[in-house]
Amino acid sequence: MNIPLSRPSINQDDIDAVLAVLQTPTLSIGPKVRAFEAAVAAYTGVAHAVAVNSGTSGLHICLAASGIGAGDEVITSPFSFVASANCAIYQGATPVFADIEPDTLNIDPCEIEKKITDRTRAIVPVDVFGQPANIERISEIARKHDLVVVQDACEAIGAERNGQRVGSNGTGVQAAVFAFYPNKQMTTGEGGIVVTDDVDYATALRSFANQGRDDAGTWMNHVRLGYNYRLDEMSAALGLSQIARLDEMLEKRCQVAGWYAERLDGIDGVTVPYVAPETTRMSWFVYVIRLDERIDRTRLMADLETAGIPSRPYFVPIHLQPYYRECFGYQEGDFPITERIAQTTLAIPFFSDMSVEQVEYVCEQVQQQIRI
Ligand SMILES: *Cc1c(COP(=O)(O)O)cnc(C)c1O
Repeated sequence: MNIPLSRPSINQDDIDAVLAVLQTPTLSIGPKVRAFEAAVAAYTGVAHAVAVNSGTSGLHICLAASGIGAGDEVITSPFSFVASANCAIYQGATPVFADIEPDTLNIDPCEIEKKITDRTRAIVPVDVFGQPANIERISEIARKHDLVVVQDACEAIGAERNGQRVGSNGTGVQAAVFAFYPNKQMTTGEGGIVVTDDVDYATALRSFANQGRDDAGTWMNHVRLGYNYRLDEMSAALGLSQIARLDEMLEKRCQVAGWYAERLDGIDGVTVPYVAPETTRMSWFVYVIRLDERIDRTRLMADLETAGIPSRPYFVPIHLQPYYRECFGYQEGDFPITERIAQTTLAIPFFSDMSVEQVEYVCEQVQQQIRI
């Protein structure tokens, strides 16, 4: 049996929605983008949403619209996808890492406080694997030190912490960013979106994403250094169709995660994902197990691959990426909790339409191939 690591859930409505756009002359800057923005804003419980062509672009323009620049420091997690830190570098700022909590794998608020200097301007907490970061504590720290919070919620659309939806009004964040690459909970192909309650900020974001045009979007009037980060109409139509059944897809993912937990929990050397009591709704993005430190992960991955099961170490810490080592001099030992965990994590196949038979097959193979 060959099982993909991830696979988007695309139905006939999705296909029809994209084809319908192609039968119109408006392939960019049109009604589908506006409708998609309204749908995501309503889903999240915020006043404004600005669609962009990737989650990374969304993070970048948030820092741009917050006035982050050279000499500034932006605190984020080393246990994340590289975009969480790259967005600071794009603005000429310096990413500063704070180590994580060993159970939720999210940035540890106590570690954030230790990293604050008089140059710190922003915090970019990440909701790792779809579990919300401790936003109450992070917002409190931000208020105390007058910092901006831009939430990297690229893995967490629909997640809730203490009953509050990630990115929503009341969580104390300036903005949150969702991403729609095909392995995410919902997809637009490439794509992302920024949600915020601040109307002036939303206006600035629109300008940054649209070549720095003025507030009216005047064609040949560029008031700031902008980018072309626009989402096109086909992608927006797909997003609109996908968000209509996002809750259904999240429920299916929750069911798949449940099947996995049931079958993997008893296997010696395997730890299933931790869900904190504060996480009142998990938005399952990937399924990442932790292996006993004595297990040879590389060999396990090779054996699973032979059985038709792809798997990936997830994440490889940002500070240990070659570019970061080279530019900032990071080395092993700098973030011990992140490194210890990253050495034992393994993402196994996970997607909305995964069948119980597929889950069973993966679990059987994991059980058979594991050697401590
Ligand atoms: C997916 C993701 C992003 C954005 O990715 P894009 O491919 O640019 O859409 C950013 N941060 C995290 C943590 C992600 O998982």
